[in-house]
Amino acid sequence: MILILMGPPGAGKGTQSQSIVDKVSILQISTGDMLRKAVSEETEMGVKAQGFMDSGELVPDEVVIGIIEERIREKDCENGFILDGFPRTNEQAEALDETLGRLNKPIDHVVYFDVPEKELIMRLLERSEKESRTDDNLEVIKNRLDIFRKKTESLIEFYQKRDLIRYIDGTGNPDDVKERLFRAIGV
Ligand code: AMP
Repeated sequence: MILILMGPPGAGKGTQSQSIVDKVSILQISTGDMLRKAVSEETEMGVKAQGFMDSGELVPDEVVIGIIEERIREKDCENGFILDGFPRTNEQAEALDETLGRLNKPIDHVVYFDVPEKELIMRLLERSEKESRTDDNLEVIKNRLDIFRKKTESLIEFYQKRDLIRYIDGTGNPDDVKERLFRAIGV
């Protein structure tokens, strides 16, 4: 199964990816996690990505597309995977189509987590107290939400045209969100 989890920052994509991983044996591929690892290991890519991440901007397409193309060709992705935080631009979505087309692997579902902006900001500020993410402060959070609206939201239509989008109410108890998610993807 190939799943794409979409939604603004703080919508619960990471948490709910884990619910799916626990239920079905597929893996989670999070570009945010991969980039954070590269930053902490101070790799060449990490050094390039850090400034963009710290200000809430998107890391350039060619960088993230390269990471994903390499990752989904690996053997452990054969049974499927969850993309968490990718694609975020039209260019990324088109590159993903091309790669999956070459591998003969269709996307099964794109799930969109719907959460009002006020709640997103509250959740992200709460997270900043628990995890030390340099991009969870009010100014950067607002920029990330803005970038989502400008660059990522249009992907809803991209996948809607192909009848792949499933909307989930992402508010409330995470266990309830999980149940809605499982129903939407049929697991
Ligand atoms: P996330 O953990 O998904 O919220 O991602 C954290 C940060 O990593 C984002 O604000 C971007 O700077 C960068 N990032 C993660 N995924 C992508 C992507 N698909 N395209 C561009 N930048 C990304």
